[in-house]
Amino acid sequence: MSLAATTKPITLPSLPYAEDALAPTISGRTMGLHYGKHHRGYVDKLNGLIEGTQFAEMSLENIIGATHGKSGREPIFNNAAQAWNHTFLWNSLSPVGGEPSGALAKAIERDFGSYEDFLEEFAGAGAGQFGSGWVWLVTAKGKLGIETTGNAFTPMAEGRTCLLTIDVWEHAYYLDYQNRRLEYLKAVAGNLLNWEFAAENFASVRPSS
Ligand code: MN
Repeated sequence: MSLAATTKPITLPSLPYAEDALAPTISGRTMGLHYGKHHRGYVDKLNGLIEGTQFAEMSLENIIGATHGKSGREPIFNNAAQAWNHTFLWNSLSPVGGEPSGALAKAIERDFGSYEDFLEEFAGAGAGQFGSGWVWLVTAKGKLGIETTGNAFTPMAEGRTCLLTIDVWEHAYYLDYQNRRLEYLKAVAGNLLNWEFAAENFASVRPSS
């Protein structure tokens, strides 16, 4: 086998914390499977699909942009988006948790009423997503919003800036919460959201954009 044939253009990033660091809200067993099997699976599948194609040398973000809405490119889009979404998810979570501060805290009060109202709306939106998908805190046109997407879809594909996400695929919670998706969402939103990461993403866009 040549060296070139073993080169993987898209890599699986390391988790930013230990697999059991989010326990008991998310168990080490769930993280081991979710990161080690599901996330890795999307990356490996994507690399197989793009090998020898025009997408092989592109960044993950560019692959998503180039395949979004393109007939026949759904398998590449779905695996690329899932690879991106999961890396974004790991960064959206933190063992430390905390609450929003500064400009982002003010924007949350402006657009949701209060941090508590945001938490309730965010968890409720994720619980209401039919089937597999994601719940997102996004910013677009100077306003924060909560958005849900089905399956692999990601708001970044349509130019909205993602601040935080939680995965609502059953593989994200079934071992720990079985069918109790709302309980999982409330626990993760209240205990694990990485508000420093959200603030960095929020600061990356101008208020008027
Ligand atoms: Mn997942």
